[in-house]
Amino acid sequence: MRKFKFLRLGIVLALILFLAGCGGEKGQELYEVLRVIDGDTIVIDYNGKEEKVRMIGVDTPETKHPRKGVEFYGKEASEFTRNLLEGEKVKLVFDVQERDKYGRLLAYVYKDDVMVNELLIKEGYARVLTIPPNVKYADRFLEEERKAREEGCGLWGHEKEVPDKEQVYIGNKNSKKFHLPSCEGVAKMKEENKVQFESRDEAVDAGYAPCSLCNP
Ligand SMILES: [Zn+2]
Repeated sequence: MRKFKFLRLGIVLALILFLAGCGGEKGQELYEVLRVIDGDTIVIDYNGKEEKVRMIGVDTPETKHPRKGVEFYGKEASEFTRNLLEGEKVKLVFDVQERDKYGRLLAYVYKDDVMVNELLIKEGYARVLTIPPNVKYADRFLEEERKAREEGCGLWGHEKEVPDKEQVYIGNKNSKKFHLPSCEGVAKMKEENKVQFESRDEAVDAGYAPCSLCNP
């Protein structure tokens, strides 16, 4: 009899520890998503206060950047997060830092039991952006990114449509700017100043800046 009692106590204890473990891992609180700012940033009702949440470890293409403007797939990423989260309830899990230097909450955002940060990478709506010390899922995210890129998912599809081999860029040795071949800047350029690059990266690595007219 005694033996069974201990066994039962053991099972109850294990169950309590298990449940406590889950709670600690995910956070129990649910927060309403008031609006979506862009693919990786949302505004929630945080205990009665409006707070911005930046999802950790991911970067979606810009839609409101003062300099970069709207980047490829930025709108799609915003739409995806909006459709998924606006008006919904989410759970937050923090990493090492609870806030960034702008005062935004930094979190892994869970809708039901799906981590949205990871989902964004999986579906090709975001790139991995790891900022130490918040690196808990960095390896997992990179693995998902590799798969998405291989499949040409979402924002990675763009790179497959325009292979570097077909697109060349023309640099100006004098101004250290580079252009699309169709740019009027190229038409005016002296032959001796022309230098051809096989990819955008090659031009940037050589110290050339993109022309503001043709925006290569
Ligand atoms: Zn140009």
